[in-house]
Amino acid sequence: MAYKFIDNYRERGARKQLVELLKKRGITDKNVLTAIGKVPRHYFFDETFWNQAYKDIAFPIGDGQTISQPYTVAYQTELLHIKPADKVLEIGTGSGYQTCILMELGAEVYTIERQPNLYSRTIQVLPYMGYQPHFFLGDGSKGVPEHAPYDKILVTAGAPFIPDIMLKQLRIGGVMVIPVGNEKEQKMVTILKVAEQEYERIELDTFRFVPLVGDQAW
Ligand code: SAM
Repeated sequence: MAYKFIDNYRERGARKQLVELLKKRGITDKNVLTAIGKVPRHYFFDETFWNQAYKDIAFPIGDGQTISQPYTVAYQTELLHIKPADKVLEIGTGSGYQTCILMELGAEVYTIERQPNLYSRTIQVLPYMGYQPHFFLGDGSKGVPEHAPYDKILVTAGAPFIPDIMLKQLRIGGVMVIPVGNEKEQKMVTILKVAEQEYERIELDTFRFVPLVGDQAW
């Protein structure tokens, strides 16, 4: 895929319209909307498809995976209530777009991807754009225990269940956001770790993610 990093008036205009659309769809967190307004989503697309980059749609990024729909990115990010310097574990780097949004909010991001091609691409593209998260290649269904605990954990692929091993890596007072369900649809679930072995779980709207594949997953 040939990358081109030019952010001109056409793309900036389309990005503003996307932010307005997300507001209409119910996203209210100003910081999340500002982050969406800042990150050039077209940088994650081949130039041929730049006209698709600011539509509220998921889009193929190769290896059978997708860059998540902007609404989904905004929805999951809003649920995390990111504070500057939060240590965030993201499972499923994919294109790296969500990673940039988290970093715009001031998070220190640990992000893991299982597909080597996607990993190789993001370790080049994100630093080029000025984002330097901690990248990992491997099975994120087991989390990244060597850097735990995390203030927030975000899973960007659909899980069949909530992996215990991930919950263990959450700090007390920390929040995890994970889509849980079958292969066709998942409920967005937020989990607040109240104490060691004590969690508050809330089930929200229905989404459709690519599957979380791994030892503690499909
Ligand atoms: N946040 C991404 C973005 O903005 O592009 C979303 C990417 S996609 C919806 C989900 C990603 O999770 C895919 O890239 C997929 O390869 C990855 N994935 C699935 N199972 C995984 C696992 N066990 N560990 C790490 N990544 C995984």
